Amino acid sequence: MNDCIFCKIIAGEIPSEKVYEDEEIVIFKDIAPVAKIHLLCVPKEHYAYLTELNQARVSRLGRALRKIASLRDALGLSEGYRLVINQGENAGQSVHHLHIHILGGETLPWGN
Ligand code: AMP
Ligand code: ZN
Repeated sequence: MNDCIFCKIIAGEIPSEKVYEDEEIVIFKDIAPVAKIHLLCVPKEHYAYLTELNQARVSRLGRALRKIASLRDALGLSEGYRLVINQGENAGQSVHHLHIHILGGETLPWGN
């Protein structure tokens, strides 16, 4: 976890364009956006996979989803948005610190 890029962003060791932060999560702009709006919601606790969920993590993830919903308009997502959690090889997960992609700002193609 020492060389985890998202842990470094959370610690402020690597710059990011943060749009929201609280004790449990940070939301910042994806460096390589695949939609007009592409944000990453990252729990501050380091873990990689949904298989590692315990009750506390489930609760925090639920609160993260509720927070994303409450920030919808502020983030420019009032026309709709998509949440994506890549898990493992086949999904192309490249950062092994659990994160929720938030995509929107335009009509999103379905597929892939
Ligand atoms: P995933 O492929 O689901 O693991 O998503 C990782 C995402 O992190 C990719 O969309 C990358 O573009 C994004 N990413 C990697 N490094 C950074 C960074 N330093 N700042 C912002 N986003 C990043
Ligand atoms: Zn991490």
